[in-house]
Amino acid sequence: MTEQKAIIDTGWNFDNSYARLPEIFFTRLNPTPVRSPKLIILNNSLAASLGLNAQALECNDSVAVFAGNRIPEGALPLAQAYAGHQFGHFTMLGDGRALLIGEQITPQGERVDIQLKGSGRTPYSRGGDGRAALGPMLREYIISEAMHALGIATTRSLAVVTTGEPVIRETELPGAILTRVAASHLRVGTFQYVSRWGTVDDLRVLADYTLQRHYPEVDADENRYLSLLQEVIKRQAVLIAKWQLVGFIHGVMNTDNMAISGETIDYGPCAFMDAYDPATVFSSIDIHGRYAYGNQPHIAAWNLARFAETLLPLLHEDEEQAVKLAEDEISNFAESFHRNWLTGMRAKLGIFNEEPEDESLIEGLLSMMQKYRADYTNTFRALTFDEKPEDMALFGTAEFAQWHEQWKERLSRQQEPKDSSQQLMRSRNPALIPRNHRVEEALEAAVERGDYSVMERLLDVLSRPYAHSPEQADYCTPAAPSNRPYRTFCGT
Ligand code: AMP
Ligand code: MG
Repeated sequence: MTEQKAIIDTGWNFDNSYARLPEIFFTRLNPTPVRSPKLIILNNSLAASLGLNAQALECNDSVAVFAGNRIPEGALPLAQAYAGHQFGHFTMLGDGRALLIGEQITPQGERVDIQLKGSGRTPYSRGGDGRAALGPMLREYIISEAMHALGIATTRSLAVVTTGEPVIRETELPGAILTRVAASHLRVGTFQYVSRWGTVDDLRVLADYTLQRHYPEVDADENRYLSLLQEVIKRQAVLIAKWQLVGFIHGVMNTDNMAISGETIDYGPCAFMDAYDPATVFSSIDIHGRYAYGNQPHIAAWNLARFAETLLPLLHEDEEQAVKLAEDEISNFAESFHRNWLTGMRAKLGIFNEEPEDESLIEGLLSMMQKYRADYTNTFRALTFDEKPEDMALFGTAEFAQWHEQWKERLSRQQEPKDSSQQLMRSRNPALIPRNHRVEEALEAAVERGDYSVMERLLDVLSRPYAHSPEQADYCTPAAPSNRPYRTFCGT
């Protein structure tokens, strides 16, 4: 009776449309139970928006759900099959340490995936243990929630639990499970998998499913698979432009880590850039800089070309025609990205209208920022408040003074008053980003000392990046210069 009540009160409202797809798309499987689950963090506001009762989610029965020890009513856990190009090489992958437990239908009627990450081995685990360590799961929690607050489409993080079991990496680490919420987990890699190992009918089923789930507005009478390609390209152009505009580096833009929904997905070795430099790379395994900041738009186009290839049999019965259609669309990505980026950059500089010289004004600033190794976020913050921080070399230069003149002139040529420009800049230039040293500090306190207060405070300030409030000041400073570059690690 009490158990029944707990389930009802929690607000889970599952449907399982993915489980109704052809069998090759997934493997039905329950999570592997863990020894002693403990709730570390719960996202109350996200829970509420999903129609879940945060209080009920804290009870043991719910924590058991987050740990995979208990399957909530209506859930139908499964591991999704997918492939992907990892650093350019095609491989069969799939959920090796995650399970889709079901799709929550929210009170607004939206459908979102609820996924447990770190829930045990699956048929797609290859050599892996199917588990995750606490540090990386909290890292995903922090950065995905920061991205959401920045206004960037992303998967969300509902909860992290520890398992009470160690995971063996380079050392023994506390094991954890992240509950991830996503518009869906359909990836470019899902299409690659079906295209390689399924039939054309399977592919059509997948494309129709995707259209229905993410692009219901697409006209069924037109060439709807071409429309699918166009819409995915559009959303990626918007997404990647937003990444560039805040200095986000995904770190591992493999095709399995590109979501068809247009959300940012798979927070592994990602990090935010401090000093502006297009060559910035944080990931320890990205030796050649394939996924460097400045390369992200190019890689997105490459990934989208892989997506387009999978759709060829659906685009046109004549292969040559199909290739031509796909190529035309892919070549639109660069322009679409550029348009989004330019509009975003204008806004970051308080510019409302368009002038042909805007791009050279922007490029002029960026090249000075690179030359003087100016902190990306803080440069735009200083411009927003028309400050010239003494500790930033850029602002003391004659070059900058000249640029500043040009910029002021440019602003005076638009109708909007100065106030409106500043308003616009405040809303587009975050006061703060999840600074690498702040994230590390929070993770260290959590993992080494079981002190979650550092992380909670960080999450709190990151939840209002455009507030520009005094309490944020401490979090705006870049890390002290160090002789070792910041490095992030993958797949942990
Ligand atoms: P990611 O780097 O998180 O995108 O993962 C790439 C692939 O490796 C996916 O198929 C994951 O499911 C799989 N994977 C990563 N870590 C593990 C692990 N510890 N055990 C099993 N599979 C894993
Ligand atoms: Mg992945």
